[in-house]
This record gives sequence, structure tokens and C-alpha cells, in this order.
Amino acid sequence: MNDNPWTRAMKQLENAASKFSVEPLLLARLKNPDRVIEVSVPIKMDDGSVGMYQGFRVQHNNDRGPYKGGLRYHPHVDMDEVKALSFWMTMKNAVIDVPFGGGKGGVSVDPKKLSEAELERLTREFARKLFPFIGPNIDVPAPDVNTNAKIMQWILEEYSKQKGEETLAVVTGKPLERGGSEGRTEATGLGGCFALLALLRATGRNPKGLTVAIQGIGNVGSYLAQYLHDEGLSVVALSDSKGGIYVPAGINNIQDVLTCKEEKGSVETCYCVGSVCDLNNKEKLGARDITPQEILELPVDIVVPAALENAITKDNVDKIKASIILEMANGPTTLDADEVLNKRGVMVIPDILANSGGVAVSYFEWYQNMHKENWDKKDVFDKLREKMDRAFDEVYKASKEFGVSLREAAYITALRRLSSGN
Ligand code: GLU
Repeated sequence: MNDNPWTRAMKQLENAASKFSVEPLLLARLKNPDRVIEVSVPIKMDDGSVGMYQGFRVQHNNDRGPYKGGLRYHPHVDMDEVKALSFWMTMKNAVIDVPFGGGKGGVSVDPKKLSEAELERLTREFARKLFPFIGPNIDVPAPDVNTNAKIMQWILEEYSKQKGEETLAVVTGKPLERGGSEGRTEATGLGGCFALLALLRATGRNPKGLTVAIQGIGNVGSYLAQYLHDEGLSVVALSDSKGGIYVPAGINNIQDVLTCKEEKGSVETCYCVGSVCDLNNKEKLGARDITPQEILELPVDIVVPAALENAITKDNVDKIKASIILEMANGPTTLDADEVLNKRGVMVIPDILANSGGVAVSYFEWYQNMHKENWDKKDVFDKLREKMDRAFDEVYKASKEFGVSLREAAYITALRRLSSGN
């Protein structure tokens, strides 16, 4: 029951609504997405056969502005997952205070099994099916799990073709040369770093030397690792879906490890000394291999689930030793696990705050497209920091005011904004 993300999302909403009174009409609307869209995505495979995939887009709520949220490509994508993720976008966009509602979508597909040409045909077909439902003032998709700037460019092109004019603001997370924003690629990871620093400041802890283990080093986890390292934290473990590395003394050359991961297809065995990365360095570093499950259970100060939902469950929560959890994935903690963490006093920086840097810079990108502006990276990062700090302060204050966890406080902050209509 807990593992169904939609059930969990609704329970989280009810918990928050029991602490902060919400108009019954608003509550009912948040419990029922505005619109669910399911489309077929047939494509020609390279061998001449036909592949048939299901595509989804849920437009959850647009009280605060156009629906906004990513598109993911993953075999587990289904309607309940997309519904939950779209609800979390409504809450996230309210917490980080961008003038957007919430939406989410995806295709149920394993993109690793598709060739580049198949991936392009799939994306263009999906974009054509979504065309009647999206637009700069209607619904603005973005990258998410297994999607990226190139995929956004294909959607931009298909949309613009149908529309008869180039419409940059229809998607965010585009390549720089096609209307993307400086800093969008780094934004989610950097935003997470800002959120963590804000918590450490608020609780009077020095970031220097705190140890961190990161599960998931896709776009989000890899930038986060680099930024945390730059801030003087000690990143000791990294994992991807295949395996991971644990270097208790700290991984000092994050970039080399990430490059090795790109080359080998996995971070396992990426034990780097200087720029030479291989298994032979493992002993020299006093390091060891680690599974994506074990990485969450390491004796570290901070654990970062940055992969998929349901990483922290009742089965492993008792083994978690960290005092801080930075949720960079969406929905990584199940309800029962969350309760245990709260009871134990573990600080959880919830997903809708921790990973909201991505959509914050998506808003900056959309704004630049709408106003034909081009901001430089420093400008983007300064504005991102400001937004993350303000959102964190508000959530932190609400947690003190209501005597609740940061997650409940984030929900209360979102509900306050949605209730007040601004
Ligand atoms: N997919 C990201 C998220 O879950 C970004 C969404 C966006 O930029 O619209 O927040």
C-alpha cells in the first residue's frame, strides 16, 4: 500500500491538511488532477518492426500558472506514478514560489534498449501526441529521469512544426544554443547543495568534513557530488543502478570518477588515483565496492537518495545511520520509513524542497524565452541561491511554528501559497 506513490502522496497531503486548515474545495481539487492524458506511441524500430509504447501526461493543477514538470522515460512509468509526481510538482512549484502549477509525464520504455534513432522517433511521436495539450501558457515539459536537453530539442522542433512557428518556451531544459538557459543542467544539483548548506547554517553545523553518500549519479547526483565536494564536504560513496564505490577517506577527484563512469557505463571499479581509474587502486585507497542498497546504510553524516522512488523503506530504514537525508529523487522515502526517521530525529530535507532548484531554473529559462532575454550563469546561480534560501527559511520557520518535520512544513508552506492564491 505504501509503495503506491499516489496513495502516499495523498496521505502526505492529508497529514499536512490536518495541521493547517485547507478549504475543502482546494483539498478536493488537489486530490483530483485536472486532467490525465494517455497516448499511444507507436514507432518504427531499426529492424523494421513496430514498437508500441504508452505515453502519459498528468496536468495536476494550474491555479498558480501553467502546468510544469518533467517527462521521464522508464519501464516503470505508469499512471499512478505520474499522477503522484504531478501532484508533487504542484507542491514543489508552490514551495519554491515559481508561477507554475504542476504536471508530469513520461513514456513506459527502457531507453537503454533503444538506439539513438529509435529514441528520436519515440520522442517526436510522443511530442506530436502531446501537441494539443501543451504550450508556453498551458503546460511546459522539462527533463526528468532518462531525458535530457537533446530530447527537449526534439519536442521543441515537433511542437514548432505543428504550430507553424518556433516556440522556445514550450519546453525547458533545452540545449543552450536552442533557447536553453545557462545553469539549467547544473541547477537541481546546485539547488540541493544550497538547501543542505541552509539546513547546516540553521542548525549550527559546519559543512567542512561532513561525510556524504550519494545513491544515483545521473545529472542530479553528479553535479551535487561536485558542488558538495567544492564546499568542503567529504563525498565518500557514489553509486549508479549497477553498483558503487565506497572510499572512506573521501573521493577527491569527483570529475575523474564521473568521466570514468561515462566511459565504462558504470561507476563500479572507478577507483581513481590521479586520473588513472581502475580496480587496482581499490586497495591503495582503502576502498571497497558497494551496492546501491548498501550505500544508504553507510556510517555517514548525510545520505542522498538521488535515483528513484522507494529507496528508503521499512525494510532498510533501521539500518540508516545518517543524521541528515537530502532527498534529491522525487518520492524516495515511503510513509512508514518517514515516520521512523521522524521519531529518530533524522532531519529529512524533503524532495519538494531539496530538488526544486531544477524547476526554479526552468522558470528562469521560460522567463528568458518569453522576454527574449539571456542571463549569464552567475546571474542564474545568484537568483537560484536566493530562491532556495528563501524557500528553505520559510519551510524551516513553518516547521518551528507548527512543531512538524521539514516535509510537513514544506507541504504547509505550499498549501499556504495555494490557499492565498499567490
Ligand atoms: N523534472 C524536474 C523535477 O522533478 C524538473 C521539472 C521542470 O523543470 O519543469 O522537478
